[in-house]
Amino acid sequence: MDALGKNSLKFFALGGGNEVGRSCHILQFKGKTIMLDAGVHPAHQGYSSLPFYDEFDLSKIDVLLISHFHVDHAASLPYVMQKTNFQGRVFMTHPTKAIYRWLLRDFVRVTSIGVSSGGKDDNLYTDEDLAESFDRIETIDFHSTVDVNGIKFTAYHAGHVLGAAMFQIEIAGVRILFTGDYSRELDRHLNSAEVPTLPSDVHIVESTFGTATHEPRVNRERKLTQLIHSTVSRGGRVLLPVFALGRAQEIMLILDEYWTQHSDELGGGQVPIYYASNLAKKCMSVFQTYVNMMNDDIRKKFRDSQTNPFVFKNISYLRNIDDFQDFGPSVMLASPGMLQSGLSRDVLEKWCPEDKNLVLITGYSVEGTMAKFLMLEPDTIPSINNPEATIPRRCQIEEISFAAHVDFRENLEFIEKISAPNIILVHGESNPMGRLKSALLSNFASLRGSEQEVHVFNPRNCVDVTLEFNGIKIAK
Ligand SMILES: [Zn+2]
Repeated sequence: MDALGKNSLKFFALGGGNEVGRSCHILQFKGKTIMLDAGVHPAHQGYSSLPFYDEFDLSKIDVLLISHFHVDHAASLPYVMQKTNFQGRVFMTHPTKAIYRWLLRDFVRVTSIGVSSGGKDDNLYTDEDLAESFDRIETIDFHSTVDVNGIKFTAYHAGHVLGAAMFQIEIAGVRILFTGDYSRELDRHLNSAEVPTLPSDVHIVESTFGTATHEPRVNRERKLTQLIHSTVSRGGRVLLPVFALGRAQEIMLILDEYWTQHSDELGGGQVPIYYASNLAKKCMSVFQTYVNMMNDDIRKKFRDSQTNPFVFKNISYLRNIDDFQDFGPSVMLASPGMLQSGLSRDVLEKWCPEDKNLVLITGYSVEGTMAKFLMLEPDTIPSINNPEATIPRRCQIEEISFAAHVDFRENLEFIEKISAPNIILVHGESNPMGRLKSALLSNFASLRGSEQEVHVFNPRNCVDVTLEFNGIKIAK
């Protein structure tokens, strides 16, 4: 590398560039290499779900930081640690690590189910790989800084899901902020994303919702509860496909409270709510353990009532669908959230022929998944166990987002607060990301040509972004 090259910071995405899924980004500066996230793509299976790991020598990586436990950010980590020449150190927050363990065990199971029906051995890793990788993952506290051979990084609250972190990384005085997935709206249980005290030179930020605007939270909660209430009142069943953990707990807080307020009509088992996941018990214990990492509101409830707000009065756990007696109206939260396979898919196929039933999507649906396909309101859907067979779809399909990603206004406000001269957009489909880029460029148009000019990049996977930091920073 020449003298000039040593001052250039290189970014490129092995995944999550102009797409949502398989997030994995590489940063190189001053001879140091950092990897951000190691996800899979939820619309694909086996090796094709991985980031483009063949395009980079993973043995060069010094540090790998995982922002949160969602599969599109963390599920290829055991593969990286056990099946490649990666030798770096891996960091995540405590709750992320606690949940990661159970979640990925479930993920291994789900992917092996996919394999047995496909007939081809396409398993990315096994339970043993997962256990071995687990012991080598280091944890970082929020607001604490770790230094690995001159790479300093600090974890900040990101909102989104329990344990989710933004990382501010500092190498030789240049600071890079990686948001991961983040939210700024006040939540029932989470702290919202914070602005780090020190400024950043580079801001790597999600663009999931592009330039779209969310309805205020109170309206969405009211819509959600009214839609569910009216469906069960006319004898319908409601399926809420959810990711086993994270946003599901937020929906449960809303429903449990509503059921208590309307107990004469809904309570006492009149309309049961089920949380169907073989992870249910283990994951709820993680939530019950980490109440101290949540917002003041939920901690106050915890103190005042002396009972854990995650011990729900109106929700029962279902480990599998065989235990389920399907009589009369009910509400079912089942994973996975995009209906690719598993419990939620089985329930969908059972309930979708009836027009009085409702499928209510509350998460973000990735291109190529059944959840995304359902939004087109198809007349039929393919059966998972027999792809030649089709099932009529007459049930109602609705979407109310509780995905906890920033909308345009919240994203712009945060980007302005960070006020970095270089913005790199990731984690968004091409169109919303492109619209966000245009909106940001026109927002910062008055600075064009000045010292404070803001550069916005929306690179595709495996396309470099190179930024020069010649002589303006001094190593500390
Ligand atoms: Zn996420």
